[in-house]
Amino acid sequence: MTSKLALYNSASLTDLDKKYLWHPFTQMKDWMKEDILVIERGEGVYLVDTEGRRYIDGVSSLWCNVHGHGVEEIDEAIKDQLAKVAHSTMLGLSNVPVILLAQKLVEITPPALHKVFYSDSGSESVEIALKIAYQYWQHKGERKRTKFIHLAESYHGDTLGSVSVGGIELFHDLFRPLLFETIAAPTPYCYRCPFNLKRGDCGTKCLAELESILKRHRDTVAAVVMEPMMQGAAGMIDQPAQFMSRARELTQSYGTLLIFDEVATGFGRTGRMFASDHEAISPDIMCLAKGITGGYLPMAATLTTDEIFNAFLGEHHEFRAFFHGHTYTGNPLAARAALANLELFEKNHIIDSLRPKIGILSNRLNDFYSLSRVGDIRHVGFMVGIELVRDKKTKEPYSPKDKIGIRVIKRAREKGVIIRPLGNIIVLMPPLAIDEKTLERLIDVTYESIKEAT
Ligand SMILES: *Cc1c(COP(=O)(O)O)cnc(C)c1O
Repeated sequence: MTSKLALYNSASLTDLDKKYLWHPFTQMKDWMKEDILVIERGEGVYLVDTEGRRYIDGVSSLWCNVHGHGVEEIDEAIKDQLAKVAHSTMLGLSNVPVILLAQKLVEITPPALHKVFYSDSGSESVEIALKIAYQYWQHKGERKRTKFIHLAESYHGDTLGSVSVGGIELFHDLFRPLLFETIAAPTPYCYRCPFNLKRGDCGTKCLAELESILKRHRDTVAAVVMEPMMQGAAGMIDQPAQFMSRARELTQSYGTLLIFDEVATGFGRTGRMFASDHEAISPDIMCLAKGITGGYLPMAATLTTDEIFNAFLGEHHEFRAFFHGHTYTGNPLAARAALANLELFEKNHIIDSLRPKIGILSNRLNDFYSLSRVGDIRHVGFMVGIELVRDKKTKEPYSPKDKIGIRVIKRAREKGVIIRPLGNIIVLMPPLAIDEKTLERLIDVTYESIKEAT
């Protein structure tokens, strides 16, 4: 059973890709002209292409890989499950791994979260959170509570509901007419403060603004949705301490729900298991995906409180159930991968082992300020954004025509490192299990690449 794969050489695969594929978030006109990288396998924190070249996976295969690639324990768990059943539906049935995983998720997430609703991607987990919040208020008889407040610069996924509560101009403006109306509260993007104030002596004016929005829409807000601590795809925007705590207090005092989208921050990324843990906060709803299976298989979860869950209980003919579910929801293979992932967190003391590595990142990132085009460095745990600017004094941004981010990552690729920018922001998101030496190498290459490309 030699696979058909073996018949193709690297050059013909490149041609076939360009003939048949449409890549996400990619200008295909540029893609057609480029030398593209086709990944054949992974080894630890390295990806290996069809030419046998090795690259450090500097963005954890889009922020989801935790322990590296080809980790025996996760591979074996998936194989073991494969020998039992690959998929069975959760509509009207249950399966072994999803039950055990739900128990585990409830144990490790903030204390008020007691119920787990599965789906397949981060976008869906947010879509589900919004629908649950909306339907919750309908059941409670507060029918006017239909509005969602989100942070202006935020990213919650690509489906129309999750785009509605997002706010990245580049991704979202085009689709405005298709989206439902939401209310944007200011983002604590302190490097480019919307109020022109300085972090530390601003009195966190953005929170005062959030409060006044809550006050104005007192009886009509279904929920506030935010990425706690670090707003990822919006450009790695780190929030001031106590920002999420205050958001929790405000949503409580104005009697509405708080949704934390921990799709990016969850599973160790911020240096704790969840961003919520840094300030011991329990949101009403939490969205998880990316790191949940260690980056092996697609899976997501939306967790809620008993209060929310109970509002959906009733007689069959009352139709209070939550009418939502995807075909592959609660896939047993993915759930087994997730269980193996969480076991490795414990066995390898991942959270504790991060501390010295986060220290290395902090120290070494300071050097980057000596580079003439580095305007701001934002760093929380194992999430890093380096904002490149044309002019440090005026903070003048590079124009999209400069393709500065792309230039930097191409340099890095020549040096054996895969990273991916967010516009003019260079992102570092290595797998949590990266060793210190490889981490140093990743930082060195990033430094040199920025220096050479700018
Ligand atoms: C990546 C991401 C999503 C979307 O997840 P997908 O699995 O890509 O749909 C949602 N929210 C946040 C904060 C993310 O980083």
